[in-house]
Amino acid sequence: MLTIAVSKGRIYQEALPLLAQAGIVPVADPDSRRLLLPTSHPQVRLLIVRAADVPTYVEYGAADLGIAGKDVLVELGAEGLYEPLDLKIARCRLMTAGPVGASWDTRRLRVATKYVNTAKRYFAERGIQAEVIKLYGSMELAPLVGLAECIVDLVDTGNTLRANGLEPRDLILEVSSRLVVNKAAMKIKHRPIKALISDLARAVHIKGEA
Ligand code: AMP
Repeated sequence: MLTIAVSKGRIYQEALPLLAQAGIVPVADPDSRRLLLPTSHPQVRLLIVRAADVPTYVEYGAADLGIAGKDVLVELGAEGLYEPLDLKIARCRLMTAGPVGASWDTRRLRVATKYVNTAKRYFAERGIQAEVIKLYGSMELAPLVGLAECIVDLVDTGNTLRANGLEPRDLILEVSSRLVVNKAAMKIKHRPIKALISDLARAVHIKGEA
C-alpha cells in the first residue's frame, strides 16, 4: 500500500489530473469530509492534511509520499525527505509586499508573515534587522492597521494585494508543488514508488508540452 499526503484546495485540484495520468483517481471528494480517500488504484490511498503538515506526515512515515509547496518545504526545512520531482503545479511567488508607494525604514522594519523562518533568513542575508511577527492568515491586513510595515506572502495574480492597497516588492522564492518521499519508504517500497515517480514525471512533461 502507498499512502500519499496532500492538502485540500489549489494543490489538490491541480494534482488530480497528474495523479489520474498515473492511474490514481480518488473515489471520494475531500469535501465529503473524508480524510483518508481510497482511489481507483487498489494499492494507493490519499491522506488529506493541512498543507503545512504534509512534510511531517511524510517524514514520520505515516505517508510514504506527499505533495507540498516549495514555500512550506523551505519554511520547515524538510531535510529528512527526498524531493524527486517538481510537479510544476500551484505556482506562485513568495514575495515581500507593502503599501503602494511607501518607503520602508530598513533600520526598524516590522514584517508580518506566516513564513517566519524564511523571512528572518531573507532579511538577515541582506543585513536588514527585521522584527518578524507571526500571523496565521490575512497578512494583507497588517500594514493597513499599523501592525507591520511590510508582509511576506504568496502572490499569484496580485489581486489580493491590490484590493488592499498593497504592491509586491521583492521576489523571495519561486513556488511550485513538489513530490516528497519518505527516505525509508523509498528503500522498502522502491519499485512502486519509482514507478509512481516516473508516471508522474511523464504526466508533468505531457502537461508542459500541451
Ligand atoms: P492572488 O490574489 O492571485 O495574488 O493570490 C494571493 C492569495 O492566494 C494569497 O492570499 C495567497 O496566500 C494565496 N495563494 C496564491 N497562490 C497560492 C498557492 N500556489 N498556494 C496556496 N495559496 C496561494
